[in-house]
Amino acid sequence: MTGLQLSVVVPCFNEAEGLRSFHAALIAVLEGLGDTFEICYVDDGSLDRTRLLLNALAAQDERTHYTAFSRNFGKEAAMLAGLRMARGAAVVIMDADLQHPPELIPRMLELHRHGYDQVIPRRDRSGESMVRSTLSRAYYTAVRRCVDVELLDGSGDFRLLSRRAVESVLSLPENNRFSKGIFSWIGFDTVSFHYRNSERVAGRSKWGSKRLLNYGIDGLLSFNNRPLRLAIYTGFWVFLSALAYAVWTVATVVLHGAATPGYATLLTAVVALSGIQLVTLGVIGEYVGRIYQEAKHRPPYVVRETDESCPVLSDRPL
Ligand code: UDP
Ligand code: MG
Repeated sequence: MTGLQLSVVVPCFNEAEGLRSFHAALIAVLEGLGDTFEICYVDDGSLDRTRLLLNALAAQDERTHYTAFSRNFGKEAAMLAGLRMARGAAVVIMDADLQHPPELIPRMLELHRHGYDQVIPRRDRSGESMVRSTLSRAYYTAVRRCVDVELLDGSGDFRLLSRRAVESVLSLPENNRFSKGIFSWIGFDTVSFHYRNSERVAGRSKWGSKRLLNYGIDGLLSFNNRPLRLAIYTGFWVFLSALAYAVWTVATVVLHGAATPGYATLLTAVVALSGIQLVTLGVIGEYVGRIYQEAKHRPPYVVRETDESCPVLSDRPL
């Protein structure tokens, strides 16, 4: 290793508007630390001037590096590229919109020095719309029941990882990456603290409700096969109820000799069962799709360019 103490990884997608103020705020905090540091920006195929800005920032300051993707590959891929670039003994991952305050970095480092491998600042949900915060909370409660790894409400990708934690994250070969789950899966001593949530300073959030929903489904499916098990249990219970109903029907016919009117029951049963079958098929399909994606062994992103001294080029094979 290079003796570098801290790397800050920042995925950026269309952040040109606020990037300079973010960079200034970050540099101010980092210079106050007295440690050696580097900043690893990843331009995730931005359509605005983000890449040009990063190029200029890297040219001005040798502690600033960047990698630019050939198109938008998503924040997960950008974080992975950033972690591969980072050479510091500790690595902080943060957003470029100042929603993750750089002022928290000294406190994170302090906790890291006390022996923690992962330090997670958790935001409270102040300033977020009622709908979104209620939905997020409900989601986390549901996920906690279904998923084998622990996910904390309000903990995003903002965190500090020790070198060995970063190496463990990088050792996971999967392509379809759900970082929140991965961070929790690797384990190590973890500590979290709360901070006040704030609005992004410029530009707008890239997470519309559809994207969030898909992210939610990813989270549920990438970490276990409990949904498949749920399908087995559902099938079992449906079968048992059908059996009970059949026994009851036969008994009524035998005891009362009644005719068995059944149009409504029949239709309900058929429709309900088709519904369950479709959902189950969908769940299986999701897993098959994932196997297909992984089996292709595609790289998670394509690099368009990097700055000249970028560690990705020199140290580490992509
Ligand atoms: N981001 C990215 N690729 C994407 C979407 C987002 O690299 O496809 C970056 C974005 O530039 C920001 C961070 O991920 O630094 C978080 O994005 P955003 O602020 O839109 O998410 P939110 O804070 O609303 O969850
Ligand atoms: Mg944001």
